[in-house]
Amino acid sequence: MTGRRLGPSSAATRSAVLDMVRSGRTVTRAELAARSGLTPTSITRIVKTLLDEGLVVEVGFLDSTGGKRSSLLELNTTGRFAVGVSLDAGRLTYVVTDLAGAVVGRLVSPGIEQDAPGEDVVRIARELGQLLVQLDIPLESVVGVGVAGAGLDLGAGAERHSLTATEWESFALPEALEPRIGLPVVRDNDAACAALGQYWAGRVPSTQDFATLYMSNGFGLGIMVGGSIARGASSNVGEIGHTIVDIDGPECWCGARGCLEMLAAPRAVVAAADADLAGRLGLTGDAQRFRVDFDRIAQAAAQGDVDCHALIQRSARYLAAAALSVVNVLDLDRIVLAGPGFAEAGAIYVREIRQQVERFARTRGIHGVLVELADPGLDAAAGGAASLALQHALTPHAVRSGGW
Ligand SMILES: [Zn+2]
Repeated sequence: MTGRRLGPSSAATRSAVLDMVRSGRTVTRAELAARSGLTPTSITRIVKTLLDEGLVVEVGFLDSTGGKRSSLLELNTTGRFAVGVSLDAGRLTYVVTDLAGAVVGRLVSPGIEQDAPGEDVVRIARELGQLLVQLDIPLESVVGVGVAGAGLDLGAGAERHSLTATEWESFALPEALEPRIGLPVVRDNDAACAALGQYWAGRVPSTQDFATLYMSNGFGLGIMVGGSIARGASSNVGEIGHTIVDIDGPECWCGARGCLEMLAAPRAVVAAADADLAGRLGLTGDAQRFRVDFDRIAQAAAQGDVDCHALIQRSARYLAAAALSVVNVLDLDRIVLAGPGFAEAGAIYVREIRQQVERFARTRGIHGVLVELADPGLDAAAGGAASLALQHALTPHAVRSGGW
């Protein structure tokens, strides 16, 4: 929340008051006045606008010992909706959420083509329209579309650097998608979206500093400190996949040696499976389909296959080493694991990271660090992307200027 004093009539004030209603769950006008520093008259006027627009509802009265009873205000959760799309090589996930970030509908379809963004945009527009029709949600009730993807640039003022540039990463997605769907489109990387989604939906208290650790093809870290997503100097914060976890390890495509991604990401786990195991599990052995093979290994590991468990455990140990460093550097309250990489064997990763943090975090004598899987696991990035759209449309005062 901003520390500055708010003027009574700006759009930022209206947005800040709406955010107070949202984060406060149930509030009175007097509480809003006290919290915002605005006069009761100004609050009454702003609340009337929010009631008229259907963004806020009155849900009853505060018990009172006399005088005029104060009415209780809440976010009108079904007053508007937002769409979130998670772009992943394995699959596309669409979710529609209400104003509180609760998922009201979802659709999963085949993953993106790495080199054909133009064709995928046509498909995304079609599938998104179909989902809204199925849910009987008119376009006028949708505030916008958020898109989450690995290495997506952040648009205005911030260019995301990537050494694995594909057409997708430099593709002007909002400009291509907006005219097709008639809704504003915003985007961010999947780890940051997952963090924002946990925050917006109230799954993490606003007082906690936390990070989401995201695994798809590689790793990403979304860092939420003081209620804001950390951005870094060039919006490239969170490249945890290139934390060096073995100085004599294999050379990474980034130029360094022994990066986490080279030792613990799905491709590395699949590469470590020997021929016997590959035959026994019926792995495809196709370099393009390594995520399918990884999921098979992870599933077998979760079911107790000793060899597979050893492979996943090794990946989890490397990840735990990197996660411990993050906890120590940022003094976090919580680490949330999200993304399709944790779908099958997330519990093994949680256990390993939790153990490392409990044993070795420097602040272990002062406060605990919660390690958990995101809820809802596979939809974390898509749900977060919808929260991104909600935040842009409804509480733009909370969006850090110059970034997203
Ligand atoms: Zn690297």
